[in-house]
Amino acid sequence: MAVADTTLLPLNQGLPWQDEQWQQLCRLLNSNRLPHAIMLSGGEDTGKRHFAERFIQRLFCISPLDDEACGECKQCCLYLSGGHPDFKRVEPEAAGKAISINAIRELSAFSVITAHQQSWKVALVAPAEAMTLNAANAFLKTLEEPREKTLLLLVHDQLAPVLPTIRSRCRVLSQGLPPPALVRDWLAQQLGDAGGAVDELLARAGGRPLRALAFAESNTLDDIARFEQVLKQVQTGEAPPVSSAAAFEGQSLTQLLEWLLAYYSRQLINAAQSGSFAQPRQFAFYDLLLATRKKLESKTNLNPQLILEELFLSLSQST
Ligand SMILES: [Zn+2]
Repeated sequence: MAVADTTLLPLNQGLPWQDEQWQQLCRLLNSNRLPHAIMLSGGEDTGKRHFAERFIQRLFCISPLDDEACGECKQCCLYLSGGHPDFKRVEPEAAGKAISINAIRELSAFSVITAHQQSWKVALVAPAEAMTLNAANAFLKTLEEPREKTLLLLVHDQLAPVLPTIRSRCRVLSQGLPPPALVRDWLAQQLGDAGGAVDELLARAGGRPLRALAFAESNTLDDIARFEQVLKQVQTGEAPPVSSAAAFEGQSLTQLLEWLLAYYSRQLINAAQSGSFAQPRQFAFYDLLLATRKKLESKTNLNPQLILEELFLSLSQST
């Protein structure tokens, strides 16, 4: 689940690594060749959601300037207020939950009514992989009946699966991790004087620009440093695993797991670079981290504290 791929940034401000795809979509729009379904597929926290919302505003805007929404016309204001009658947002009721078949039924009903403003109708399905199998099958029917001036826009985090039959009916725009140099310049610009920690922020965020920005805005580096200090103590036997895990009770396990993955993969990389080979049990621990992440994504009822304790125990035995 993305932590920061939201619309914190002004919608009429593009992200430089998306320029080419932005122009591509605008060309299709301007020549009346826009596909009826578009899937933005890529890594977390790289700005897919922002791209989608920016393009939707551009579609609704009645006086765009240089292919950018004006931000001031009636349509822009309606959209930005969250009350545009020709826009439908399809998302889970709470973060980490599934998109239900009822939400898709509402979308089907929305797709057949006439637009209020005689312009585009748009539905944003995000994240697409959150649809239950029933919801995905129902969505397929809507996809198979394209309607004029109706756009279905899907945002998909590429690690999670989505029905191939849905994917094949969409124009897929892949948005991988952006080039590091471009991200670095952008982040430094966003942070202004506070930009000294750009490299560290990006390393902690795995090169994901919006996650790095969110880290900076919430002083997350300090939290990570504290967490890693504990990991180190658990690993070296200076601190007992179970009671150390208790100190993080109530915190997001998804987030802690990401930090743990980053911490441990750095260790494996450092070991490889220094010419020493990692032990099988170290790889086994890394596999356990990946398997746990997959388990969390499956959204079944889990006991986060118990999982963290188990991870800390395994960590203490991994070296
Ligand atoms: Zn406008």
